This record gives sequence, structure tokens and C-alpha cells, in this order.
Amino acid sequence: MTAGPSPETPLLEVQGLVKHFPAGGGGLFAADTGTVRAVDGVSFRLGRGETLALVGESGCGKTTLARTVALLYAPTAGSVRFQGRELTGLGRRDLKPARRRIQMIFQDPYSSLNPRLPVGAIIAEPLVIHGLGGRAEQRDRVAMLARQVGLGAADMDRYPHQFSGGQRQRIAIARALAVEPSLVIADEPVSALDVSIQSQVLNLMRDLQAAHGLTYLFISHDLAVVRHFADRVAVMYLGRIVEEAPADALFADPRHPYTRALIAAQPVVGRGKRRPGDVLPGDIPSPLRPPPGCAFHPRCPLAADICRQSAPALEAAGGEAGHRAACHFKDEAGP
Ligand code: SF4
Repeated sequence: MTAGPSPETPLLEVQGLVKHFPAGGGGLFAADTGTVRAVDGVSFRLGRGETLALVGESGCGKTTLARTVALLYAPTAGSVRFQGRELTGLGRRDLKPARRRIQMIFQDPYSSLNPRLPVGAIIAEPLVIHGLGGRAEQRDRVAMLARQVGLGAADMDRYPHQFSGGQRQRIAIARALAVEPSLVIADEPVSALDVSIQSQVLNLMRDLQAAHGLTYLFISHDLAVVRHFADRVAVMYLGRIVEEAPADALFADPRHPYTRALIAAQPVVGRGKRRPGDVLPGDIPSPLRPPPGCAFHPRCPLAADICRQSAPALEAAGGEAGHRAACHFKDEAGP
């Protein structure tokens, strides 16, 4: 008999995860042949009931990482252990139980909902796919989930286009929870919504986390959202985690120059939106040709010769347990 996971086993353990895509071969970017290193050796653990946020600029690899963990992409290399069980290398059939327990919520609820199905059928769809319960049980569960996300019984016969963006995201959340997942991977779940609606959806996600014992992997480019929602934060740059820490420690004492730039680029009342590009030179380089040494060195205000020659490892930084940074000068005061 195989022993089950011990209570100390993290819900999710990712080790050295790599996802590369072949590039080029024709079209507009025919010259860009080679390998896109979208995720390039990522390791992290996620405890039960925790919320880990993945942050970084567009193109840093956070969405590819999320989709690889969610088994939507087959990893190029590395390990994904879920509830103590290795998932990489499993066939479709063996993956099915894990697919049920790992659900995703996407940025655009409209395109992720079938426009031809009424909402009740959309929420019930995963139950049907996984063959869970009879019709009456499925109907009861759909009604319970609809209530929990703030939808009424009459809404079950309406279609996605009859709802606002915030309500559509509530529908998508109810559908994700239908099959009792342990891990919900939320990819920019509120970034398409008005600011006033964002906090309602985030509060709902927090309430549902408590009610259903959920663990969240939360992808966002918005540090203001992450600061209030996540227990821990991992900052990604060009396919790698460059800093990881409990949320409070990351914002109080960022050790990586890229994290400091992201924090400095947060919008300030009266000054409007800013981007990391407003406080850093240049754009994020192509993952087809990552710079040698520390991949951040072309944009880094602290870059020295060693940075161009050797890639820093992700190691303990700051004073807080679980705080790690990948920078040769992580123990020095920032600019
Ligand atoms: Fe900047 Fe060097 Fe640290 Fe990279 S290793 S973040 S280039 S100081």
C-alpha cells in the first residue's frame, strides 16, 4: 500500500521546472529561430491554504509557468509534485484526478465561458466531464455555488453576454469550484475589471478560500492587488524567480533591484499609472536570447562585471525566513 502525503507535505512542489518552445520557421519573425526559454528552471513550494502570487512584467513567463503547473502545457524538464505525487510523465488517464483538483480562472471571463450555454449548464459542465453525481446532485451543487458567488436562481437560465464583467468572473469562479479543487490557479483574475469591482471579486475569492480550504497560485502584474491578497510573493524575470518572500517582507525590504523597480513603478495617487519601464532603462529582453550572466544586468542600476559573467543563485536574503533573492549584491542597501 502506498502511504498518503504527510500533513507537512506541501500541496504543490515545483522543482527545476522548464518550459521551452521552438520559435520561428516562417512568417514575420522568420529570422527568430531558436528556443523561447519561457520558463527556465523554476522551483517553489505551496502549502495548503496558502496564497502565492507570481508577479512580473508581461513576457516574464508567469502565465506559461501557471499553465505548465496546471498541466495545460507539458513541461520540457523538471518536476511538479501535487499532493505528494509526481505529475510529469503521467498519461491522460492518470492525470485526470489531478486535473480535477487543479482548476484555473482566467483573465477574460467572457472568452472562457461558452456563450451558447446558460449559466447553470456552464457551472455544471466540469461535474459532467468528471462524471460526478447524478442530475439532482449536480443541480443542487450548482445552486449552492451560485449562491456562494452571489448569483440568483433566475441567473441560471441566462447567458454570459447578459452579465457584467464582474458577474462573469463570479460565474467562472463557481465553475472552477464545482469539482472541489484543492488548488486554484488564477491568471490575472481581476485585471480586466473596474477597480471598484476588483475588490469585490478579491473579497469573494478570499471568502471562498476560507469556506472551501483553497490554495491559490495568483498571477498578477499589479503589486497593489498582490500586497493585500497574497501570503507570499515570487517575482519573475525572464523565466526565472529572482526574489521570493512573505508579502510583508518583500514590500518592506526588497532585496533584488528588479523588485525595487516594480515597487517604485506602482501607481501613486495623482501621478497615475507607471510601468517598470518608467523607472528602468529598456524593455524586458527576448526570451529567445536571454543576456548572459544575470539576465537583468542590461537594465540594472547596480550591474558590475561579475553580473555579466555569472548568473546569481536564488539564495537566502534579508532577515526573514523564506526570503530569497538571486542577486550578487542582495545583502547591500538598494539605490
Ligand atoms: Fe543587478 Fe548584478 Fe544583482 Fe543582477 S546580480 S540584479 S545585474 S546587481
